Amino acid sequence: MAVRERENASRGSVEQIAERILLSPPDVGPLEESYLISALRSGWVAPVGPEVDAFEREIAARTGRSHAVALSSGTAGLHLALLALGTRPGDVVVVPTLTFVATANAVVYTGAEPIFVDCQPETGNLDPDLLERTLDELRRAGRRVAAVLPVDMFGQCAEYDRILPICAAAGVPVVEDAAEALGAVRGTAPAGSFGHAAVLSFNGNKIITTSGGGMLVSDDVELVDRCRYLSTQARQPVPHYEHTDTGYNYRLSNLLAALGRAQLRRLDGMLTRRRSHRERYAKLFAAVPGVRLLGDGDTGANCWLTSIVVDPARAGWRAADLAARLNSLGIETRPIWKPMHLQPVFAGAHSVLSGAAEQLFVDGLTLPSGSAMTDRQADRVAAAIGHFLAEQ
Ligand SMILES: *Cc1c(COP(=O)(O)O)cnc(C)c1O
Repeated sequence: MAVRERENASRGSVEQIAERILLSPPDVGPLEESYLISALRSGWVAPVGPEVDAFEREIAARTGRSHAVALSSGTAGLHLALLALGTRPGDVVVVPTLTFVATANAVVYTGAEPIFVDCQPETGNLDPDLLERTLDELRRAGRRVAAVLPVDMFGQCAEYDRILPICAAAGVPVVEDAAEALGAVRGTAPAGSFGHAAVLSFNGNKIITTSGGGMLVSDDVELVDRCRYLSTQARQPVPHYEHTDTGYNYRLSNLLAALGRAQLRRLDGMLTRRRSHRERYAKLFAAVPGVRLLGDGDTGANCWLTSIVVDPARAGWRAADLAARLNSLGIETRPIWKPMHLQPVFAGAHSVLSGAAEQLFVDGLTLPSGSAMTDRQADRVAAAIGHFLAEQ
């Protein structure tokens, strides 16, 4: 929910109440309400039911996969995908250093070791050349690489045309972390269709939300069945409770699946909205020296979040300066992910770096990008940026 701030409570007029504009708040309304209430009234108030089944079919279709399993989070999906691929202590898993911590945490849950690889400066996506070098080094060091987890950074698909052949040559399975990328395409292939399996997130800030939730998709029915089994406490198919494996409680609620189905019906409209925000930012900064948008212009990106990258030497100002100004005007911004190799929790982790991710962390700024942002709010953001630029 948007947080309301009274800029001048004493005057109290409606005009004086300015809503804080958030980066990517949930975009829900009457359709979500009606789906949720019908699911509630159906009696299927459990992590099983017709909404879960239908949501799985619909997401599988949207991602071009034959099978899907609905889960309580994207993180759970990454964890189960790694377990189903046989990841175990002593293994390594290659993760981009520029990502949300969930990608790396899923590796740690399995007892394997994450190896962090740097990104391409244009997109923030996993650098295929560094990946190739890393896999080569790991092979020569005799390490077993359980998987590579490329991330579709801010909704632009990673460079799978290069990543997939490199991983295939090394005999390493790929799990696409498509948490941010539902609705994106690379060429004609949808996000979620790359690698052995892919994982989506429906967290509150993502492109569609179930308030919290995720989905694993794959064409490998055995892998999907294994994940489904592990997600429901690894219960054996007998009348009493019989367990031969350690399972997890990772299934998605039927109520939340209903919410997700309503959101999915609105997905194309929400993508249009996010793309129009990005186009507006592109125009605003087009003639500003030293400023570019993160991304290489791939028109298939879903524009989940739009970030600028500022070269202070050429622009004469820093990303942090604009962040401070916008914050003072009630407009939320955020730096691009702090790279995993700089996180205290991963101190000492093996990393293969070019400096690109650190540069994006310092010079990047993510701007309000949500599909719920109204035209008036977008005008406020544009005006605030316009004023800031005019003063430089
Ligand atoms: C959001 C996100 C996740 C985790 O998804 P949850 O549903 O929040 O667990 C994983 N990876 C990336 C890149 C994300 O942005």
